[in-house]
Amino acid sequence: MLSYLHAFHAGNFADVQKHGALTLALSMMQAKPSAIACFDTHAGSAIYDLKSDRARKTAEADLGVQKLWASRNSLSSGDWQSVLKVLSRFNAGEGALTVYPGSPAWFRQFLRPGDSLTAFELHPTESSQLAGWAADQNVRVMHEDGLKGLLRQLPPAQPRLMALIDPSYEIKSEYSDVAATLQKAWQKCRHGVYLVWYPVLTSGLQATLKQAVKDSPLRKVWCSEVHLKTPPERGMTGSGMLVVNPPWGFEDRFSAMIEDIAGESALGLSHEHGWLVPE
Ligand code: SAM
Repeated sequence: MLSYLHAFHAGNFADVQKHGALTLALSMMQAKPSAIACFDTHAGSAIYDLKSDRARKTAEADLGVQKLWASRNSLSSGDWQSVLKVLSRFNAGEGALTVYPGSPAWFRQFLRPGDSLTAFELHPTESSQLAGWAADQNVRVMHEDGLKGLLRQLPPAQPRLMALIDPSYEIKSEYSDVAATLQKAWQKCRHGVYLVWYPVLTSGLQATLKQAVKDSPLRKVWCSEVHLKTPPERGMTGSGMLVVNPPWGFEDRFSAMIEDIAGESALGLSHEHGWLVPE
């Protein structure tokens, strides 16, 4: 049974890291004109109301994207500008943000003619909201398991590939399922750029995913982990991204982005990064 709903978490510090990485990787790939097939294996419902009861119940965006937005005039990394531009397109005015775009909406903002986006979502209500949003967006929505769906679609028609794999990890086996899917996807499309999100938990369950990736034939896997400087006693204390085949120079530019928002007056994070598996 699927009980996770992203509306409770949209715009939190993990989304800032994840959507910042997505924006940077996609715009770096688009420095070349050849078309990109984009896949979003766990898409959610695309648009989130930050004033909704669900969002206000946890108020997670207050310590995530709202902090980013409040510090927007003092960010030194130019790479945040594309992120801020997208946020301002969804929000009128200068005050706190009221709308937060989910991953398919981030992808959609950057698609060029020739690029494509396929978004998978298994939860029935989330999937129908996603399909409603996608109807006039030239985005293909598939109401099915995103890991199996991704593998079925590879290799894509376009010469290049970017896939975001962002499960809710409600089921413990998802850590090893993600690693197995990543390996199979890479074997079908070795040049693809794959972004995998995972939670950093006090239970340490994320180690299963990282170890399985280390033990696999995958190469060139960069890892970024942000850790809350004031973490909760239990649960999610940080957020991790694996980036397979990052565009050249991505690691330095993304690290600079995170450094920019890490301070106590911004998101209050520490950043650990490096190659989980080198070339
Ligand atoms: N990627 C979204 C974003 O960044 O805005 C957030 C996704 S949320 C973390 C995970 C989503 O995966 C949930 O909406 C959940 O319903 C969906 N989901 C869970 N299991 C799935 C599966 N096997 N295949 C596709 N979607 C699934």
